[in-house]
Amino acid sequence: MSVRVRFAPSPTGFLHIGGARTALFNWLYARHHGGKFILRIEDTDAARNSEESVRVILEGLRWLGVGWDEGPLTPDATGPCQGDRGPYFQSQRRALYERRVEALLSHDLAYEKDGAIWFRMNPEATTFHDLIVGEVHRELPDREKENPDFVIVRSDGKPVFHLTNVVDDLEMGVTHVIRGEDHLSNTPRHIALFEAFGVKPPHYAHIPLILNPDGSKMSKRDQGASLQTYIDEGYVPEAVVNYLCLLGWSPKDNQEILSLEELIDRFDLTGVQRHNARFDLAKLQWMNGQYMARMEPDRFYELGVHTLAHAGFDPNAWPVEYVKAALDTCRGKLKTFAELPGYAGFYFREEVVFDPEAEAEHLVPASREGLERLRDAFARLEHWDAGHLEACLKNTAGEMGVKPRQLVHPLRVALTGSKIGPSLYHLIEVLGRETTLARIGSALERIGA
Ligand code: GLU
Repeated sequence: MSVRVRFAPSPTGFLHIGGARTALFNWLYARHHGGKFILRIEDTDAARNSEESVRVILEGLRWLGVGWDEGPLTPDATGPCQGDRGPYFQSQRRALYERRVEALLSHDLAYEKDGAIWFRMNPEATTFHDLIVGEVHRELPDREKENPDFVIVRSDGKPVFHLTNVVDDLEMGVTHVIRGEDHLSNTPRHIALFEAFGVKPPHYAHIPLILNPDGSKMSKRDQGASLQTYIDEGYVPEAVVNYLCLLGWSPKDNQEILSLEELIDRFDLTGVQRHNARFDLAKLQWMNGQYMARMEPDRFYELGVHTLAHAGFDPNAWPVEYVKAALDTCRGKLKTFAELPGYAGFYFREEVVFDPEAEAEHLVPASREGLERLRDAFARLEHWDAGHLEACLKNTAGEMGVKPRQLVHPLRVALTGSKIGPSLYHLIEVLGRETTLARIGSALERIGA
């Protein structure tokens, strides 16, 4: 049997990291087994859905690198690697649901009451085997035992989630339903519907929930719950993918840093844990730092520019070589790209923005002579590179009879406005002579004022 799985989000808000993980588990499962991954937007409830939310879901999946394998032909499809296909939208499949409802009605498996259509539900308990949870035995709640029937088409003619979800899984030949544990209580109804259609239900695999560090259930309002946060803060998608996979799944040897190939190779439902997973931002940040440190320079550049642009800078206004060189001085120094604007923003501003504490400490009359001498020495320097700049500064300190650090700190604050940042001589090399001399000049004016 060839594996067919799907991710079936309702576009009612942002892409929750729990949803992103569900998508990822489905996608990995398909890749691991050489099957197909389908994206189906469950948008039958027009009042709660928004186009913006669909866009956010597609953008999030694209960012993670999760692409779907099939879908209807649409000229303006926005999929990551599907050409002009899909995804599926339930709002475009009404006729299918209507046909299935007709079939249930004609076999007396459903009936009309008060304008709505009700499904005749078996009041007996349901037992099934879940690939993650194990044996599941579900009794109907007492209040439902009397009348276990449920609505499948509302009186306004709208098909209900249970119906559309099952009809689509059936029509799409889904073999494994991998979804959040919050859907476990819906599964008896879904199994009953499959049986009413005379079809064997798919395999079910319910993934445990994601909890906050304090053990509470992670909800939409919790910090870090939206995938968008990580996109906006310039996290590395590969690191987020790696982290999300370890949120509830682990390979047998507990290896932590896994490439996409390794994830595809090793991912299986047997490795999904039974207990709920706790979200650990510090660990995600650590992992992100690992990916940043190992990253190819071109990729670092691409993600760095994205973050700077998002923070309101215009890196494209500077020559590419300058931006690359500037970002290169930040490699290995950051845990997330979110730190980049604070760390390297001085490269991309005309005027230095001074940290008040740094200025008060270092741009003082005692620094004046050193800065003046450095300005003269730098103006005459023949080779403008980190090595010569360092030698020049040490020379100047020697001539003045002071320690190099007495020149280093005021100089750094004059050029960057801050006490922390990239290696001083490298950043001076990148800033170039003209900017360096101009910034020292401005700093001297501030001291004088
Ligand atoms: N639309 C449902 C949700 O977003 C899908 C449930 C399922 O995967 O079957 O939770």
